[in-house]
Amino acid sequence: MSGDAGSCDSKDAAGISERRCGVGETVEQSGTVGGQSVSVGARIGRRGFLGRAVAGGASLLALGALGDRLAATVGANPAAAATDGTPSTVHQWAMVIDLRNCNGCKLCTQACQKAHFLHADQTWIDVFQMETSAGDTYFMPRPCMMCEDPPCVPVCPVSANIRTAEGLTLVDQSRCVGTRICMNSCPYQARYFNWSDPEPAPRQPFPQEPSWPVPQVKGTVGKCISCAAMLPSGQLPECVANCPMGVLYLGDLAFDVAVNGIGNVVKLSSFLAENDAVKFKESYGTNPRVFYIPGHGQDIDSD
Ligand code: SF4
Ligand code: SF4
Repeated sequence: MSGDAGSCDSKDAAGISERRCGVGETVEQSGTVGGQSVSVGARIGRRGFLGRAVAGGASLLALGALGDRLAATVGANPAAAATDGTPSTVHQWAMVIDLRNCNGCKLCTQACQKAHFLHADQTWIDVFQMETSAGDTYFMPRPCMMCEDPPCVPVCPVSANIRTAEGLTLVDQSRCVGTRICMNSCPYQARYFNWSDPEPAPRQPFPQEPSWPVPQVKGTVGKCISCAAMLPSGQLPECVANCPMGVLYLGDLAFDVAVNGIGNVVKLSSFLAENDAVKFKESYGTNPRVFYIPGHGQDIDSD
């Protein structure tokens, strides 16, 4: 699906950024969701902690409650990133990528690499410069799609790939034997082989396990983990927290809420529906949990 090139305009005034697409429809405004004007949204610190929402309108009160609920449940769920198959009804993680605002700065990539001590060519979230059919360029971040039907998982001969109860695909590097079959099976090229020893990593905040595979292990495959180990304490993934444009949202399908790194909290289902969100290459049947919002004529290949 592609957006309507030229139908959107944006402006910045007094620190308020606003974008309108279509006839009279406000689809995005700082501190505004779904056309509802509000003064202040929920605040998320640089490290991504979701604080208490301060509402300026009735709709934001509801969104703020969702945000508070997410923060409370995330913080109260130490087993959120469990990889042992324990059933969980608490979270169903997803991501929203608002292509209208990406400027290609790659601070998301850099933050990810810094946090996980990756080599420069290991771009767990990569940012591609794309071209529309009209010849315009735009930028497209590509993390792991956290597919609901991930082709990378069943092909592994040693069951080193895991899909958690909360919808994250992770790699158990203690099991990986480096066949790289999973790399060939990923249609999004989201996996990276460790041909050499990793960057030296000082003492880490989490144990070295699938939810925090730091440092990486030579001879094994690594990939985006949505910073799984950070989520239980209410921290946003590094890429989300460090995107200055608010392009990246961590979403929770179970609680119907998504938050970005600059303080916007949205009702996930409405945000996706109102902005014609699409999944990348749906025809592969992988059911990605990453939703793209076009808006500048991008020819997002949802087929
Ligand atoms: S940090 Fe944000 S604006 Fe910069 S490339 Fe990444 S997603 Fe785009
Ligand atoms: S994007 Fe690739 S690595 Fe990620 S879950 Fe899907 S198939 Fe697996």
